[in-house]
Amino acid sequence: MPTEELKDAAAKYLMQTYTRQPISIVRGRGTRVYDLEGREYIDFVGGIAVNVLGHGHPDLVHAIQRQAAQLIHVSNLYYTEPQVQLAKMLVEHSFADRAFFCNSGAEANEAAIKLARRYAHAKYGPERFEVITMTNSFHGRTLATITATGQEKVQKGFEPLMPGFAYAPFNDFGAVEAMVGERTAAIMLEPIQGEGGVHVADREYLAQLRTLCTQRDILLIFDEVQTGMGRTGTLFAYQQLGVEPDIMTLAKGLGGGVPIGACLAKEKVASAFQPGDHASTFGGNPLACAAALAVCRTLLDGGILEHAKRMGDYLAKSLADCKDRQRIVREVRGLGLLQGVEIDTDAKSVVADCLVRGVLINAAGERVLRFVPPLVVTQRDIDKLLDTLTVIFNRRVVEEKAGRH
Ligand SMILES: *Cc1c(COP(=O)(O)O)cnc(C)c1O
Repeated sequence: MPTEELKDAAAKYLMQTYTRQPISIVRGRGTRVYDLEGREYIDFVGGIAVNVLGHGHPDLVHAIQRQAAQLIHVSNLYYTEPQVQLAKMLVEHSFADRAFFCNSGAEANEAAIKLARRYAHAKYGPERFEVITMTNSFHGRTLATITATGQEKVQKGFEPLMPGFAYAPFNDFGAVEAMVGERTAAIMLEPIQGEGGVHVADREYLAQLRTLCTQRDILLIFDEVQTGMGRTGTLFAYQQLGVEPDIMTLAKGLGGGVPIGACLAKEKVASAFQPGDHASTFGGNPLACAAALAVCRTLLDGGILEHAKRMGDYLAKSLADCKDRQRIVREVRGLGLLQGVEIDTDAKSVVADCLVRGVLINAAGERVLRFVPPLVVTQRDIDKLLDTLTVIFNRRVVEEKAGRH
């Protein structure tokens, strides 16, 4: 279907929940995608931090093909090996003892919130249910997770929200400490706020949260839906930030593009779930788990984590150099291959300019450009991104002087 026709059909048949870029992507290879007209784009969005192995990685493609031919789905009424293997793999490479599988980040967070409530309820009674989350956070689009999300714009018009949440400013330990009480069951946060504009949690802050949670038997939940699976240069971001959570959620990169989410927890917490307490029809099905296993193995054995760390450092340094040269750049923030650049101008229009020049990036908020490329991104790709940004920023300055912006 030609792109214009596709746009018309989408306008007619789809619920209008997204503002899309005006291209139809038909194929991908590594860090490149191609539109219907054959134009090539360097992908610094990676399906929103999902395609960690890039597009068409042979290990992932073959794992999916093999598993699809063998068995796609049977439900959790039976044992399937890929699910157990994946749980073992994640447990062996993290703080956690057990895993529950679902299909998305929001669902993983729903599982985490339910688990925290179940744990607190069983141990302290029904008065202990509150989850403290952070302002400017993002945890998903279900009713519980929009409530957990500390941003009015995702909640507005969907009230009444879920009871039992409270919000603290990010990176402010005193504020959380003052809010904690008899009702507090858990503190939930992203080690790096992604959708909220790429804000990294301070190590000291996280250490203080950990101590507070341990002292009061409050569960510390890390939402690593975006930061997990090598994004920051280690398999999980917490491994670099010096603090272990009690519960961690994963999704985005976990299946390399195949939908899968996971909620991981320490034994002491995980045992609060008994048979029948939580479930998902699709969760952990053999196809998704075979894909996630291939992702994990390739990340760990294929040297991709080390590569991601080097490329993350290179991207951060390149962006910092750009900031030194460009007045339009306010701040560069991030860790590894999750980088944000706060600019003095509308981020959406820079995203559009990049698209025209063959580079896919996206905005996290009105003034922040976000870069979350596949972890197989190369130095040359990063150089191309920086060249493109330089041209765009230089032109903005010229236009501003001419009074056009
Ligand atoms: C994307 C994201 C989610 C939601 O994931 P979905 O798969 O879209 O439900 C939750 N938390 C964080 C930190 C995310 O980045």
